[in-house]
Amino acid sequence: MIEVSHLTKRYGGHTAVSNLSFTIEKGQIYGFLGPNGAGKSTTMNIMTGCLAASEGEVRIDGHDIFEEPQQAKRLIGYLPEQPPLYLDRTPREYLTFVGRAKGIKDKALPEQIGRVMEVTQIIDVADRLIKHLSKGYRQRVGIAQALLGDPEVVILDEPTVGLDPKQIIEIRSLIQSLGQKHTVILSSHILSEVQAVCQTILIISKGHLVACDTPENLERLFSGSAAVDLTVEAGEAQTREILAPLDHIRSVDVRPEGTDRCQVTLETDGDEEVCRAVFFAFSRAGRAILRMTDAKASLEDIFIELTSGEAADAPAEAGSEDDGEEVDEP
Ligand code: ADP
Ligand code: MG
Repeated sequence: MIEVSHLTKRYGGHTAVSNLSFTIEKGQIYGFLGPNGAGKSTTMNIMTGCLAASEGEVRIDGHDIFEEPQQAKRLIGYLPEQPPLYLDRTPREYLTFVGRAKGIKDKALPEQIGRVMEVTQIIDVADRLIKHLSKGYRQRVGIAQALLGDPEVVILDEPTVGLDPKQIIEIRSLIQSLGQKHTVILSSHILSEVQAVCQTILIISKGHLVACDTPENLERLFSGSAAVDLTVEAGEAQTREILAPLDHIRSVDVRPEGTDRCQVTLETDGDEEVCRAVFFAFSRAGRAILRMTDAKASLEDIFIELTSGEAADAPAEAGSEDDGEEVDEP
C-alpha cells in the first residue's frame, strides 16, 4: 500500500531522517515508536506530501507522492501533530471547508460529514465553536477531518498527546475501530500505547529505523536477553546435572550459596516451555525450587536499549531553524 524507500531529510546540516525504508501493507494498524526528536513527524509529513524529502521516495499505491500528488493524497487522511483547526468555526463548518478543499462534491458533502461525525462521535458538538471544545473533542474533529474522502490510509501523528487518561482510552478505541476499515499509521513516544493498538511496530531512533515487527516478534527477536532466574535447594554439581538434558537453554550460570543452595540464571531461547521443564526436572530429582522468575526482556527493555542515548542529543523540537521546503496542502 505504501512504499517508503531510502528516505532522507536534512534540515541544514542536521539529518532528521536517514535512509528510511519500509513497506506498509493494507489493513493493519502500524505504530511509529520513538522518543521525541526521533524523526516520526518528519517522516509522516513527507509521507503525506506536506514536506519535501532530501532524498528517497514515497509511493502510495504506486503513486509517487511528489510526482502524482493528487492521486496519492486522495488515498491518505492525515492528522498532523498540530492539527490546523479553525477555532472560530464549528466542527460542521470546518469539515465542510476541509471537504471542499479535498474536492468532495457539494452534493456528497453532507452525507460524508454525517458519516465521519458519527464515526468520531462528534455529532453532539457539531454546531459548537471548536474553541469551546475539550482537547479530546478537538482531537476527534481532527480525526474526522482526516477521514473525509474515505481514504484508504489514515495517518495520525501523536493522536493522544495532551489528552487526559479517559480521553486517551476513548481515542485509542476510536483508532482501533478505524483499523477495521482503514490502514492506520500512528506515531507515539509511548511504548504502551503502540503496544496496545498496533499490529506492527516500527521503532525509530535518531532518524533510523532500528526495528520493524509485531510486538510479539520484537520480544522474541531480542530473546537473547530472555532469562529465567531461580533459587534452588541443590548443590552446584547437581543443579548442573538436572539442567543439562533440558532443551531451550542456551547457557546456565550457577552461583552456589553454601552447600545446598544455588542462585541460577538461565539464558533461554524465549520458549515458554522452559519454566515447566525446569520445574519438573527439579521435582523429579526431589529438589525444591524456592523461587523462579521469568526475566524475559520486555518490550520496554528493548525500546530503551534500541533508542538509548536519544534524549541526550535530541536538540530543539520541531519548528526551530526551519529550512525545510514546505509543500502546500489543502
Ligand atoms: P519526532 O516527531 O519523532 O519527535 P521530528 O520529526 O519532529 O521528531 O524531528 C526530528 C529531528 O528533526 C529533531 O532533531 C528536530 O529537532 C529536527 N527538526 C524537525 N523539524 C525541523 C525544522 N523544521 N527545522 C529544523 N530541524 C527540525
Ligand atoms: Mg513529532
